[in-house]
Amino acid sequence: GTLVTILFNLGEMATATESLDEATFEVLGEELGYKIQMVSPEDEDKELLEGFGLDLEGELDAESDDDLEIRPPVVTVMGHVDHGKTRLLDAIRQSNVIEGEAGGITQHIGAYQIWTEHDGIDRAVTFIDTPGHEAFTAMRARGAQVTDIAILVVAADDGIMPQTVEALNHAQAAGVPIVVAVNKVDKPEANPGKVRQQLTEYGLVAEEYGGDVLFVDVSARQGTGIQELIDAVLLTADAGLDLTANPNKAARGVAIEAKLDKGRGSVATVLIQSGTLRVGDAIVAGTAYGRVRAMLDENGESVEYAAPSRPVQVQGLNSVPRAGDVFIVTEEDRMARQIAEKREAVQRNALLAKARKRISLEDFTRALEEGKVETLNLIIKGDVSGAVEALEESLLKIEVDDSVQLRIIHRGVGAVTESDVNLATIDNAIIVGFNVRPDPKAREAAAREGVDVRFYSVIYSAIDEIESSLKGMLKPEY
Ligand code: GDP
Repeated sequence: GTLVTILFNLGEMATATESLDEATFEVLGEELGYKIQMVSPEDEDKELLEGFGLDLEGELDAESDDDLEIRPPVVTVMGHVDHGKTRLLDAIRQSNVIEGEAGGITQHIGAYQIWTEHDGIDRAVTFIDTPGHEAFTAMRARGAQVTDIAILVVAADDGIMPQTVEALNHAQAAGVPIVVAVNKVDKPEANPGKVRQQLTEYGLVAEEYGGDVLFVDVSARQGTGIQELIDAVLLTADAGLDLTANPNKAARGVAIEAKLDKGRGSVATVLIQSGTLRVGDAIVAGTAYGRVRAMLDENGESVEYAAPSRPVQVQGLNSVPRAGDVFIVTEEDRMARQIAEKREAVQRNALLAKARKRISLEDFTRALEEGKVETLNLIIKGDVSGAVEALEESLLKIEVDDSVQLRIIHRGVGAVTESDVNLATIDNAIIVGFNVRPDPKAREAAAREGVDVRFYSVIYSAIDEIESSLKGMLKPEY
C-alpha cells in the first residue's frame, strides 16, 4: 500500500501488519503533512473522564487542609522467598488489639487492617495480604500506587538474597520508604548484625549505625518483635509521610484483587484512597461497573461504609476488574456504565494493536512475494484475571517465523459463553479456556459452528500446544 511505500522510501522496511515505533510515526506524519502526537493510556483515560466532567487531579489539588484527615498507612511485605513473608503477615494479623466479632472468620480478601496501640493512641494499619513485589509492580505498571511503606523481610540465618535486592530496588524506585524486619532471630544460626551490615551497601543504614532506616528483629514463628515492627511502621509514617485524605466525598481507590465467585458473582477487593465508599454507591472500576450491593471486611463481616485506607470486598460489579484498576464513584449508575463502555472500546482497540504481533521483516522483497501473513486468532477466558493476563503475555512472547502471527482478539474472566463462540465464528478464532468450562449454550454453539474450544489447567501446556500449532502453520522453507 501507499504507507508501506512511503515508509520504504524513508528507509523503513515494513508491511501493513507491522507496528511502528514512535519516531517512525512522527516522521511518517510529517511526510503526510500531519502532526502526530502519541498519547499515553493514562492521558487517554484522563481525557475520557474529563469528557464526563470528572477531573480527578484538579479535585485533589483543590482540596484544602481543612478537608484532610489522617489516614492509616498502607503496607506491603516484600523479601526473598522463604524468608517468612507469609508467616509474618499472619503474625501481624493475630496481633490485632481489636478482636474480630464473634462468628467472624478470617477471610483472605487481599488486604487487612489491624488496630494497635501506639503512644497510648489506637491506630490502624493496612497490610496488603499478597506478599512479594510482583503484585506491587503489576499495580505500579497500571499507574496505581497503593503502598505507603514497604516492610523488607530478611531471614537472619540467610542474609541478603537476590529477591531481597530486587524488592528493595522496587521500593526505592517507587520512592516508598522501607522498614526492615530481620526475621527468624529465634534460630541459633541467626546473625541479625550481618543483615544490617549487608544492607548498608544498598543504602539502607540502620538508625543504630547512624542512618535513618528502622530495623526490627522479629520471629514470625514465635511472634516476638511484632509490636515493635508495627511501631516502627507508624514511626516511619509519622516521620516523613503526610498520610492524609478527605473522607467527606465520593470514594476513589484501587482494586487490589478480584475474582468471580460462584454464588456472589464478581467480588473485588478495593482499597479506598480518598472519600468514603457506601453500600448503594454507583461505581466504575476499569471496565467493570455496577452498584455496591454489599461490602465485606477481612473478617467476613458486612460493612456499610469504608473510609480511606480501608480495604473492603465489594459485590455488585457486572464483571471482574483487574488488579490495579482505579475505581471511582459516580453520581448516577448511567455514568458508571458509560465510562466502563467507553473504556472497553478503548481497550479493545489497544488490544487489537497489541495483539498484532510485531513481525520484524528483514527481507522486504520476500514478504512482498509471499504476499500473505497467516494469522492465528485466539480468545482467552480464565478463572482469574491474573491467569488470563499471564497466559496472554506468555503467548505473545512465542517466537515464530515472520509469516505467522498470533492475535488475541478477546480475553476475559469467567466461563466460555455463547458470545465468545459467536466472536470466534466471525473472526475464525480458537477459544482457550483456562480453569473454566463452557456454559451449556456455548458448548452447543461451538459444536454447531465447529469452533475449536480448548481447555487447560496448566499454563505451560496451553503455551506448548499453541506454540506447536503456530509452528505447524509455518510455511515450508524453500
Ligand atoms: P515466604 O516465602 O517469604 O512467604 O516464607 P514463609 O512465611 O512461607 O516461611 C518460610 C519458612 O520459614 C516456613 O517454613 C516458616 O515456618 C519458616 N519461618 C518463617 N518465619 C520464621 C521464624 O521467625 N523463625 C523460624 N524458625 N522459621 C520461620
